[in-house]
Amino acid sequence: MERTYVMIKPDGVQRQLIGNIVSRFEQKGFKLVAGKFVTLSKETAETHYGEHRERPFFGELVDFITSGPVFAMVWEGENVVKVARTLIGATNPAEAAPGTIRGDLAVQVAMNVVHGSDSVESANREIDIFFRADELQ
Ligand code: ATP
Repeated sequence: MERTYVMIKPDGVQRQLIGNIVSRFEQKGFKLVAGKFVTLSKETAETHYGEHRERPFFGELVDFITSGPVFAMVWEGENVVKVARTLIGATNPAEAAPGTIRGDLAVQVAMNVVHGSDSVESANREIDIFFRADELQ
């Protein structure tokens, strides 16, 4: 069964939105197969966001994602990579539709509450960065 990596960013953890976000994935019908708090090192953040290394906001992105604990999760279900991105909404919360996580809960692009893998390949890569095989249900 397909799996994806979802991460509640430091703003979402600090604003106590974990329950709200977990509920949305559970209600949709996905299964939580792993979840834990992680404080990212600069190295892990740079690996995770490696594709953005050349972007002007890369330094800001790494500083933000390492600024406090994230809540790292693995979710499982049919087409979960794509559907999770739909539940999360557009990258810029100002453009995210109401009913999506970012549309309902965020305003700024840098503090957009949650990350979800953009492909099955990214999901596998990101799950490997954050979890050992024996942590997955
Ligand atoms: P994520 O990878 O976090 O799920 P995404 O796939 O929707 O987000 P990307 O284009 O991969 O969007 O950008 C990665 C992250 O970089 C965004 O979630 C956002 O927090 C941050 N970001 C994107 N554009 C900007 C920007 N112009 N200024 C600051 N941060 C930005």
